[in-house]
Amino acid sequence: MAFDFIQSELELRRQNNLLRKRRCQASAQGRLLRSEGQQYLNFSSNDYLGLANHPKIVEAWREGAKHYGVGCGGSPLVTGFQGPHYQLEQLLCEWQGRPAALLFNSGFSANQGLIKTLLGKNDLLLQDKLNHASLIEAGMLSGCQSKRFAHNQLEQLSQRLAARKQQNCLVITEGVFSMGGDQAPLKAIAQLCHQHNSWLMVDDAHGVGCLGEQGRGSLNQQQVGSSDVQIQMLTFGKALGVSGATLLCDHDLQDYLINFDKSYVYSTAMPAAQAMAISAAIELVRSDPHYQQQLQTNISLFKALAAELAIPLGKSNTAIQPVLIGSSERALLCSERLKQQGFWVSAIRPPTVPPNTARLRITLSSHHQREDIHALLAALASILSEQYEG
Ligand SMILES: *Cc1c(COP(=O)(O)O)cnc(C)c1O
Repeated sequence: MAFDFIQSELELRRQNNLLRKRRCQASAQGRLLRSEGQQYLNFSSNDYLGLANHPKIVEAWREGAKHYGVGCGGSPLVTGFQGPHYQLEQLLCEWQGRPAALLFNSGFSANQGLIKTLLGKNDLLLQDKLNHASLIEAGMLSGCQSKRFAHNQLEQLSQRLAARKQQNCLVITEGVFSMGGDQAPLKAIAQLCHQHNSWLMVDDAHGVGCLGEQGRGSLNQQQVGSSDVQIQMLTFGKALGVSGATLLCDHDLQDYLINFDKSYVYSTAMPAAQAMAISAAIELVRSDPHYQQQLQTNISLFKALAAELAIPLGKSNTAIQPVLIGSSERALLCSERLKQQGFWVSAIRPPTVPPNTARLRITLSSHHQREDIHALLAALASILSEQYEG
């Protein structure tokens, strides 16, 4: 039979408790979610600053649609580069202290395009083992020599850099790791790259908005200068509450990508209205530290309470707080039990995370209230103890 792996692969996933299913959400993103007739406290989204449904940002999108319509009619090199796109690029450059920015429809396509455009068979790519699937997969597709180093293990990175024969080398890490919430030691990595004449790219999907002065992200928080990191990738779909992404770099690389990056050249640009919403989100994050402060308060409260209740957390100081469970079956069970009690928390299973490290990925947001966090952890402590006994 043609394509009979479809059934067998799905069956294998089902048997191993690894089958994925979507759940249809009936409400906007926020502190509460409505799904399938029930209401839940939302501890799963990447809307870390609670901006996904913010009236000012919604209004900016509405204004944008009034002036520019809902679509920009083409890719950026045809008709899809409009005033709001240009203004957003300028704002990004100023905010991040970079000469050039380029907009993409998603972080996934920004990462894929960059790697496939920049690296060929004579080049070397070194990535942290826990980098996002968009980075790891592009490395495999680009035809370059692609190697991973153990998570945050600089000794191994240093050996790989020293042993390399290729002239061009790009190291990629994340500012904040998406499934563990821990951070990369960017200063030390940048030093190594400098020593070995390698470029460094930081994917800061989960750092931007949450960390650093004016929400500039991981580089600012760790005081790493933009000259030490040649390429920075930021997404707008997480803390900034909208969607889309940018690559920040110098003018030469920007020109090169405009000419050769197929995910830039051959894709319809984001609507101008969306660019205006993103600009509004950045202005809000820059000018009002309250969102970031509230998030920090919630993270501290969560960690302190979890410690009191002896709930085992990963080593994270960020909005992403993993509760390590181990088996996929048990992680699913915990997630189900939390849902029964009105808490929306996802179980993250292999292959998204390494084997036997299934976890609950709890995400905190500035929209959570003290009582929400108390209630979640009380429920979780009781579920975890039940299961140890059972
Ligand atoms: C979410 C994410 C991406 C992809 O960004 P999208 O805009 O959602 O496509 C890339 N890198 C990391 C680390 C992410 O967490």
